[in-house]
Amino acid sequence: MLICRTIKEIRDFVRQARSRGLTVGFVPTMGYFHEGHLTLMRRAKEVCDVVVVSIFVNPLQFGPREDYDRYPRDLDRDVSLAREVGVDAIFHPSVEEMYPPGFTTHVDVEGLTECLCGLSRPGHFRGVATVVTKLFNIVRPDKAFFGQKDAQQALVIRRMVEDLNMDLEIVTVPTVREEDGLAMSSRNVYLSPEERRAAAVLPRSLDAARRAYESGERDAGRLVELVRGMIAAEPRARIDYVEIRSIPDLKPVSRLDGPALLALAVRFGSTRLIDNLVLGSPDGVL
Ligand code: AMP
Repeated sequence: MLICRTIKEIRDFVRQARSRGLTVGFVPTMGYFHEGHLTLMRRAKEVCDVVVVSIFVNPLQFGPREDYDRYPRDLDRDVSLAREVGVDAIFHPSVEEMYPPGFTTHVDVEGLTECLCGLSRPGHFRGVATVVTKLFNIVRPDKAFFGQKDAQQALVIRRMVEDLNMDLEIVTVPTVREEDGLAMSSRNVYLSPEERRAAAVLPRSLDAARRAYESGERDAGRLVELVRGMIAAEPRARIDYVEIRSIPDLKPVSRLDGPALLALAVRFGSTRLIDNLVLGSPDGVL
């Protein structure tokens, strides 16, 4: 497995693969791998000849009071996990390599970034769209793989790829969960044992919403209230948002008569967790 620190190295690697007629799959990450990341990589291996994984904690997508400095990092462990999965190359650039002095161009996806996490994290999706555009231009993949756990991010990237005529396919992969249902996240390591136990209320509340939907509930307000009520009963939880919005535009909905996203963000102590449920889509994926 090749480990590249520079744009030139990874470009040379991909160029060689392409010249041999191989297809290139790409998994952008911030590292500190868990089974969610590894599932994206395995999926990429299944459908592409060569898999490139980027590990880059992107300062542009963190707000000034967010966790950029303390975001968990463990390159050695990530490298050995990626190797086990059969990843072909890791791109692990420095901040200076990605944002040299004088850098001043950004990508703004309007509309669907102005709700949900876009409200509580101003500038976040601008940072994501900018770094993903750069990574797509550097790696030039045929397919890129994103987790449904970050559903709004996946929808923003899909919109951007369509709007800017980027020549690749976006594949979304279902959320990988812990045994008690909590969505895997690099940020779960911040949780104290009590907070970790309390956080299981999130998948429980989404399950309750799914059951209510399956029993015929189509009133978005009532589904949101069901989820809010369960989370509010957990004293360690502080709700940032619980909302139902349309897929793919993320417009508010009051009745569920098409595919919709029930999305939530909840704080446990200083840790903000997100999760979601796709309703009204045949396979439950975005
Ligand atoms: P991150 O390193 O957190 O930026 O995540 C990198 C990619 O992994 C993103 O596309 C995420 O949506 C995806 N991902 C993170 N957690 C999960 C999970 N629990 N299940 C599936 N995909 C995930």
